[in-house]
Amino acid sequence: MSKRIISIDQGTTSSRAVVFSDKGELIGFEQLEFKQFFPNDGWVEHDPEEIWLSVVEVLNLSIKRFNLSSSDIASIGITNQRETVVIWDKKTGKPIYNAIVWQDRRTSDFCDSLKDSEDLIQQKTGLTMDPYFSASKVNWILDQVNGARQRAENGELLFGTIDSFLIWKLTKGRDHKTDVSNASRTMLYNIETNKWDEELLSLFNIPSNLLPTVCDNAYDFGYTELLGGKVSIGGVAGDQQSALIGQCCFEVGEVKSTYGTGCFMMINTGNEIIKSSNKLLSTIAYRLEGKTTYALEGSIFVAGSAIQWLRDGLNFFENASESEDLALQAKDNSRIVVVPALTGLGAPYWDADARGAIFGLTRDTGIPEITKAVLESVVYQTKDLLEAMKNDNASFNSLKIDGGMVANNWFSQELSNVLQVKVSRPKIIETTSLGAAYLAGLHAGLFDTLSSLKENWSIDKEFEPQKSSNGYLEWKEAVSKVLTD
Ligand code: ADP
Repeated sequence: MSKRIISIDQGTTSSRAVVFSDKGELIGFEQLEFKQFFPNDGWVEHDPEEIWLSVVEVLNLSIKRFNLSSSDIASIGITNQRETVVIWDKKTGKPIYNAIVWQDRRTSDFCDSLKDSEDLIQQKTGLTMDPYFSASKVNWILDQVNGARQRAENGELLFGTIDSFLIWKLTKGRDHKTDVSNASRTMLYNIETNKWDEELLSLFNIPSNLLPTVCDNAYDFGYTELLGGKVSIGGVAGDQQSALIGQCCFEVGEVKSTYGTGCFMMINTGNEIIKSSNKLLSTIAYRLEGKTTYALEGSIFVAGSAIQWLRDGLNFFENASESEDLALQAKDNSRIVVVPALTGLGAPYWDADARGAIFGLTRDTGIPEITKAVLESVVYQTKDLLEAMKNDNASFNSLKIDGGMVANNWFSQELSNVLQVKVSRPKIIETTSLGAAYLAGLHAGLFDTLSSLKENWSIDKEFEPQKSSNGYLEWKEAVSKVLTD
């Protein structure tokens, strides 16, 4: 058997172990969901032990299903939900509190109290002051868990994002490491100096001895014992950066947009950090052999989850895929605009308190018209990001798409019509796991260079603009009515 790469894809709702060939072809995967905890309004937690067990289980299941021995596995890659925070005991490995998930808003008051430092934070981290990022969550755990701050100061505790926690567990505590893409989302990492930042650590009151060592994305993260052999962990990246790599966006101006629960658009800005004036985030895309590549990112909180809401909340249909036929059935003269601010609005608005609305209802509005308007709302939100990127001088004229929603051809075509750019959907839309597999493969020597990976990227379907659309102005007007500030 030729060598295999296993990518551990630890997402917000499930963990997967995805097996790739030594050429980056998808062989198959195993997946397990885990529990979501909502202990308070706006709070979201995971049990880190359950996450760890789900990872062990999907690894074992995929090893069994694809008949792998440890010598078949060239390397393991890890990609993960970003920003989510775990703090654990150095000796026992036991988390001292549940993982606080990126979606969690419990620290918004604390973040508001740091408004004066907003510019400093943006300057150093490229991020917008928001509870979304790790720093305020770490501070919360240290403050709220009995004795935690003292134990942290005594060097008894460790902090990590999920990648770091998994590396530590997989290596039985030998390695406390993370990669630059995950570090750059903590709000503690200076993306210019490429170091944890003392000033930010003291602002958030976090002792530096909690922190993992920050490594390149393709690196020796340690080894794990599998089936009686040692397998190296050779690649790590946060989910969106991993998708950027999986989509082979290695040149300046190459851009991908991932449509899952939310939508995350990321454009490669090369060795330049573009400081956004339009509430986009500057972030580290990847660092290879010490050379850092940056990106500009826009995140939309609600994309596919609006389709889920139509399916599960409003019972409009049984399968998300039916939304495509419904959009085709919608009456042409319908002027419905849906603003899907079900959990607030992300970039470029960053309005956590905005809530959704439907405008333009008439007697003949039905399920098809509302469904079409929801799909359009995701397209218009993408246009918002494109405009913000343009205004930040990060233009592009073609877009690579992936994620569950892009199976919808109507949606993908409408993206091209509204954005007036070519939209390409690759054959492998598992780009998040693919990116981590590429990194692990690079470290294991299966691939020589980033550019050699480009040969593996192939198109399933291309969408060219067919007509122009004038709905965007109505969208902007509708958004202005739901914004709270
Ligand atoms: P995640 O990784 O965030 O869980 P996925 O990439 O698996 O998400 O995508 C699933 C999302 O895509 C769901 O929210 C679902 O509603 C949406 N979705 C799946 N298929 C379609 C489709 N054909 N048309 C529109 N939306 C879809």
